[in-house]
Amino acid sequence: MEAKKIQIIGGELLTPDIPTIPFIAGDGIGPEIWQAAKKVFDEAVKKAYAGERQVNWLPLLAGENAYRKTGKWLPDETVEALRKYLVAIKGPLTTPVGHGHRSINVTLRQELDLFACFRPVRYYVGTPSPVREPEKVNIAVFRENTEDIYAGIDFDSGSTAAKELLKLLEKENLADRVRFPKTSAFAIKPVSSEGTKRLVNAAITYALEHGKHNVTLVHKGNIMKKTEGNFKKWGYEIAESFGDKVYTMAHYEKSKKENGEAAAQQQLETAKLNGKVIVKDIIADNFFQQSLLNPAQYDVVATLNLNGDYISDALAAQVGGIGISPGANINYQTGQAIFEATHGTAPQFAGLNKLNPTSLILSGAMMFDYIGWTEAAVLIESSVSDAIAQHYVTEDFAQKITDAHKLGTSEFADYIISKL
Ligand code: NAD
Repeated sequence: MEAKKIQIIGGELLTPDIPTIPFIAGDGIGPEIWQAAKKVFDEAVKKAYAGERQVNWLPLLAGENAYRKTGKWLPDETVEALRKYLVAIKGPLTTPVGHGHRSINVTLRQELDLFACFRPVRYYVGTPSPVREPEKVNIAVFRENTEDIYAGIDFDSGSTAAKELLKLLEKENLADRVRFPKTSAFAIKPVSSEGTKRLVNAAITYALEHGKHNVTLVHKGNIMKKTEGNFKKWGYEIAESFGDKVYTMAHYEKSKKENGEAAAQQQLETAKLNGKVIVKDIIADNFFQQSLLNPAQYDVVATLNLNGDYISDALAAQVGGIGISPGANINYQTGQAIFEATHGTAPQFAGLNKLNPTSLILSGAMMFDYIGWTEAAVLIESSVSDAIAQHYVTEDFAQKITDAHKLGTSEFADYIISKL
């Protein structure tokens, strides 16, 4: 049989029995975790479908490897192939700090308009954790992926653009808010109604489809009133469009003003009893505190790009760290998606066959679920779960478990395969 493209027709993903799925192995530890993950994927698919289905993996160039071979960090052919084949998976890619090329990850998310970064954070029994009750963390993070300070509009101190910006601030009578104007660098933070609404819409839809009880909008609207404050306002607006499937705290506040607190509280309790998704909001700093003190109050989080970056790593730390946290960048309208590990290239460990491939392996399980190969996804997840529960783990976990069986990256993958 011939390999074919995954397509989206009438909003439905259609996956052939032999889909072509592009992959970018990545930089640093990328190639070794990709090799480990790929063998788990192939064996899981073989087992789940008795050889009737198979992935035709298509290697694509990006990052250091691409630069060495083509002189470009992100060749146009790579972006075109990602567009063409719709669903892909990637390892981490290097981004220099303070100089050099723009983040390839951010570029890909913007070029392909992958507006939601979806990162489910949950605990696997046996994982070493710094908190007492890590099993209480089961939070799906929806991070806006195309806007905010990540837009990459950065003006260096003393640049022409910085000087022009200062002139504009003078016109707006805001120049005195810049403490050291001559040496200040600036960045622009675009946050739009469309960008916010499509993200919050995805988060609420996920909550409804997965029987989740609440969605929390995390923002810093007390300080950034027009950007993060509007994220909250627009988020509640789109929430209201779900009608009686949700109950929003914006509605609660209105009701409290009109009918008093007891009536509003009664409405909220009734909404909970009726299984409505409660949409609430919280200021970001308080969220960090509350999600550590009482994580069980959060099922789904919808937040802006930078907040989401911090939040997903902080939540991941409670359940074993970024070595185990999977993720996906998705446009729910076009179906375009790239699945990827939450962590970076960890260059100091490259080539040592030491680090944890679980983040990429679980990202692959999410990908199989997304393309409708649920059986393969379930097999992978339960085998990873078994391996960790029995303390067959890589060094990052083994260091923190007394009776651990320490395995290399590749041997850990073999152990998972033995559990499929
Ligand atoms: P990093 O995630 O690469 O590593 C930070 C630390 O996390 C490591 O030192 C290691 O202790 C731990 N860690 C990372 N991956 C692990 C794994 N698989 N198993 C166990 N432990 C793991 O972050 P960094 O050092 O800040 O960044 C290195 C490079 O990666 C930078 O160039 C950065 O821009 C890039 N990066 C890329 C992505 C991406 O491609 N999506 C994401 C984050 C960072």
